[in-house]
This record gives sequence, structure tokens and C-alpha cells, in this order.
Amino acid sequence: MQSVLSAARVLDGIAIAAEIKSEVARDVETTRRAGYTPGLAVVLVGENPASQIYVRSKVKTCGELGIFSEMHTPPAGVTTEELLALVHSLNTRDDIDGILIQLPLPEHVDTNRLLEAVVPEKDVDGFHPINAGRLLSAAPMDTVLAPCTPAGIMEILKRSQIPISGANAVIVGRSNIVGKPIAAMLINASATVTVCHSRTRDLPKITREADILVAAIGRAGFVHRDMVKPGSTVVDVGINRLTGEAEFSRFFPPDHPDHLTRREAFARRGSTVIGDVDPAAFAVAGAYTPVPGGVGALTIAMLMSNTVKAARLRRAR
Ligand code: NAP
Repeated sequence: MQSVLSAARVLDGIAIAAEIKSEVARDVETTRRAGYTPGLAVVLVGENPASQIYVRSKVKTCGELGIFSEMHTPPAGVTTEELLALVHSLNTRDDIDGILIQLPLPEHVDTNRLLEAVVPEKDVDGFHPINAGRLLSAAPMDTVLAPCTPAGIMEILKRSQIPISGANAVIVGRSNIVGKPIAAMLINASATVTVCHSRTRDLPKITREADILVAAIGRAGFVHRDMVKPGSTVVDVGINRLTGEAEFSRFFPPDHPDHLTRREAFARRGSTVIGDVDPAAFAVAGAYTPVPGGVGALTIAMLMSNTVKAARLRRAR
């Protein structure tokens, strides 16, 4: 397996994210010379440990790139009305260009109402229906605030010179956060796009036709090697945690090239991260995004990029 695996090209999300972040830092310098500093407000409700880690990492990256950031941390019991008041005050502030509401919110909070309360010009997550509509209507990408994870996938494909125009792209997953927006972006880039989901009939037959296969499912190692067209590009969006020994041994057997490093991390932490694609399936591909170190690495870089874009677009109005 080792020789086949090493034949497939690894699309290095960490390197591409670093490239984008240094471009963003240069753009921030330009905005400073023009007399303003892009600013991001992050709203983190309650004490979800995973959300706290994500938010800390976003705030830290803002600091590294010269973007102003501030955190708002209302308690888990906060009401929708109180959160709406916070969003309204951030909407009106000139020093805030982007508003990010970290999801998930507690069940009693009306998430959709809150996301739609963010003015589209400051919606750096690209979740507002106005921004989703602009993406669907193929507005130029430098004028659209598009969702960060799919925007990151497009950066990986373009910067790796993967041909998109005319390619057969198959997306497994139809979420508003990943599946639907990446479908729109690939259509806008002239791919022929098929979107699959849990009701799709004979999924392997469809995925085997894909020149570009995007897996955004949320099920560890779901895409097997017999679902992948030889030589295709496989984009693995999934982030799943393996905790069982049997699963670990199935996906990372002793002859897997990463077996030793994975085994060591698994022993130390009691888990390892895997995508929606069985690592054995990467061997069939021509190029693939690894997990970790692929798509996930791009999401924060694209958030930073969106914040600077929002600052520039708002002042250009
Ligand atoms: P989601 O909202 O749960 O959507 C999952 C999609 O997969 C749904 O459309 C579902 O179909 C489809 N699906 C589930 N089981 C299936 C099956 N057996 N066959 C075919 N399709 C199936 O998930 P999401 O938010 O899009 O996230 C997907 C994955 O990406 C997760 O692992 C998540 O952690 C990861 N993610 C990563 C990043 C990143 O930064 N890298 C960002 C966001 C998400 P139905 O619609 O029919 O139910």
C-alpha cells in the first residue's frame, strides 16, 4: 500500500493556509496605511469546550495577522432577545467589520433569527441568506462573503492547479455550511456537479464517476476505495474522532504508512482524528486532502480573509 499511497499527491492545507494568511497580513498592512484596521467580533455563548478552543484559535490568528478582535462571552442562559441586542450594537459599530457567532448555540436560542440579524456586510461566516443568494447568483467572488470551509476547498483546488472547468464533481453531503455552498462554487467554476445525500441511490456508482470527489458527511472513513475513480482528486472535509481499538486497527493497520505516528498519538490521547474517507481510498486517488492538515487548516485562514474583505467592501460603498 505504501508505494501506491505515495503516488497520490497530498494537497497540503497547512502550507496553503500559511500562504493565504501571509497575503491577509499584507492586506491588513494596506488597510492600515489607508487609515483603518479590520476588526472581528466573536460571540461565544456558554462554555462548550470545543467552541472555546475554536474561538481562542480564531482570536489568536487575528492577533498574528494584525486584525483587531474582541470576544463577547454571554452565559449559556442568555436569551435570544439579549443576543439580538448584542448583534444590533455590533452591527452599528464602525470599528467592527466582521461578526462571528460561534455555533452551536444553546437549544433555547433561535439560531436562524440570530444569524439573519447580522447585517450581510459583516457576515464573515457567509451564512446570511443574502450572501448565500449572492453566491448562488454567481456574483464575483471578490465581492461575496462566502462560507469559509467551502471557500477554503476552492483555494486548495485552484492553488494546486486541479482542473475544475468541465470536471465531473460529486459532493457527498448537502448541508448549508459545506455541501450546498461548495456545489454553488463548483458550478460557478464550470464543473458539472452532482450532490448526493443519505437518500441517494447507488452512491458508489455516482462517486466512481467523480473527477473531484468532496466528502462532507460526518462519518468516519465512509468513502471506501471502491467508491473512488482512479486518479481523481478527493477532498475530505470530515472531522471525526476515532476512539475504539477495532476501528483504529481497521483504518490504520500495521502496513499503513502513518501507522506508527497514529498509534503513538492514539496511545497518548486515547483518540485520533480521521476524515470521511477511508485512508486506504486515498491510494486510488491522484490527489487528496489529508485529515488532519487538509481542508480544516483553511477554515480560519478564510475567516481572516473574509474579515479583511468585509472591511474593504464596506468602505468601498
Ligand atoms: P451535516 O450537516 O451533518 O451533513 C451531513 C450530510 O451528509 C447530510 O447532507 C447527509 O444527508 C449526508 N449523509 C449522511 N449519511 C450519509 C450516507 N450514509 N450517505 C450519503 N450521505 C450521507 O454535516 P456538515 O456540517 O456538512 O459536516 C460534514 C463533515 O464535515 C463533518 O465531519 C464535520 O465535522 C466536517 N466539517 C469540517 C469543517 C472543517 O473546517 N474542515 C467544517 C465544517 C464541517 P441528509 O441531508 O440526507 O441527511
